[in-house]
Amino acid sequence: MRDFVEEPGHVRRGLPGHKVVVVAGGAGFLGSALCARLIASGQTVICIDNLLTGSTENIARLMRHPRFRFVEHDILQPLAISGRVDEIYNLACPASPPRYQANPIHTFRTSIDGSLNLLTLAVRKSARILLSSTSEVYGDPEIPLQPESYRGSVNTVGPRACYDEGKRAAETLFWEFGEHRGLETRIARIFNTYGPQMNPEDGRVVSNFVVQALRGEPLTVYGDGSQTRSFCYVSDMVEGLVRLMASEEKMPVNLGNPGEFTMLELAELVQAKVGSRTPITFRPLPQDDPRQRRPDITRANRILGWAPTVPLDQGLNLTISWFAQKLGKPLPGRPALVS
Ligand code: UDP
Repeated sequence: MRDFVEEPGHVRRGLPGHKVVVVAGGAGFLGSALCARLIASGQTVICIDNLLTGSTENIARLMRHPRFRFVEHDILQPLAISGRVDEIYNLACPASPPRYQANPIHTFRTSIDGSLNLLTLAVRKSARILLSSTSEVYGDPEIPLQPESYRGSVNTVGPRACYDEGKRAAETLFWEFGEHRGLETRIARIFNTYGPQMNPEDGRVVSNFVVQALRGEPLTVYGDGSQTRSFCYVSDMVEGLVRLMASEEKMPVNLGNPGEFTMLELAELVQAKVGSRTPITFRPLPQDDPRQRRPDITRANRILGWAPTVPLDQGLNLTISWFAQKLGKPLPGRPALVS
């Protein structure tokens, strides 16, 4: 077992309201945005990541911060942290279908064995712990709007099962530790999230379409493009996670933006925004690809006072600008920004 974190000086001094927060998966797209938010609000962050899909580039600015520590570690291995830990966010797992399917057993074990290791740490530290679960627990939903009470339609033996069933099992583990070990557990069911700092090679639909349009390549729509998703901007998602952690709610809470779009609508929106004349090409629909997905956020609204504030139109503008800068591809009418 590794014991790798010294107690920082300001933790010993115990400034009021200050927390020590572990973010597993903190070098990923969502995790790094969460780390930045926690640092900005005065917390100490211990970021743990195996860098399988996360990247130190995402946390480069935070690395220099005195209240930020990065530890390269796979949560499949038990971990120990000396000193106080108040909160643990478990965001550690590849989330993009091509990435989580590349090593399915590792993905499955990350959700189960990895969660167990973090839950064990939470018990030792008497820390509050939040699981980033997923809309994938609903599988290929048979109902157009998914509330938390919907039990889902998941194929246990398909290519998505390693992720979906891993997260379902992780929810069970969190619930059991909450019920029978007295742990303060939180379960966020995260719907599709996008924004700056997505990995251009991740294979998610938003990053694929934006990168393809900027490079003047055809946009790859899988199936006939009639399947729907609901896209939440990253800052809204981070706000929801922080509020859920601070709440007293132990049962799962959906976090997502209920604005629902077909993939063809998304492709056309991205084309229009980038001003690209590249065509759309149709590729086979992956097996078990959900036909529809839209979160019912009634509970998040009531319990957390939370609702998304960034509509897709605005979030896409911010995302496209970020990718244009990263790839050095100027947008029509705008010069390339040099970082
Ligand atoms: N998709 C697509 N083209 C791409 C990548 C994905 O049409 O280049 C589709 C994919 O089949 C799915 C939707 O977009 O129906 C969302 O895919 P993503 O991988 O972003 O997330 P998830 O399927 O996990 O919601």
